[in-house]
Amino acid sequence: YSGKNGGQLFNEQMQKLTVKQFQSVPVVVNESASAYDAICIMFLEDVGTLFVVNKKSRLAGILSRKDLLRASMGKQDLESVPVSIIMTRMPNVTMCKPEDTIVEVANKLINKQIDGVPVVREIEEEGAIVHEVIGRLTKTNIAKAFVYMASDDLHT
Ligand code: ADP
Repeated sequence: YSGKNGGQLFNEQMQKLTVKQFQSVPVVVNESASAYDAICIMFLEDVGTLFVVNKKSRLAGILSRKDLLRASMGKQDLESVPVSIIMTRMPNVTMCKPEDTIVEVANKLINKQIDGVPVVREIEEEGAIVHEVIGRLTKTNIAKAFVYMASDDLHT
């Protein structure tokens, strides 16, 4: 008998939950796409955040609903506004790795007041560190991890 109480066991199980167990498929848009294109993709793909990639498919920035609303408030033609000028750009994008714990990511979302992060793999290309986008982790994935923690299959 390990001598651990319920709280300690719960805590231990919680710390075991990782991003790769709960991540979703990323939805990306090229940095040359227009704000109008981004709005269409957001609706069609039913996501709240798009990851913006460069020509080499590496992470360049992130685009949220609010970024698109802000761009829509101006008088510009949304078809002629590239997403690259309205996105939050690298290196200011908060990211996570597949091995990170769900609790670590939840903390990032709270501290930065954001809805989700790209799951990335760091690679070195031409002497620079770049990021390949391999997944998406949002508040919904965290809710799923929470429900999993309350489910029977975890305890049997
Ligand atoms: P919403 O626009 O739906 O409220 P967020 O709260 O996630 O979505 O986004 C708020 C702002 O934070 C936006 O300007 C967005 O570009 C930025 N943002 C969103 N996710 C990230 C992230 N992972 N790293 C850095 N900035 C982000």
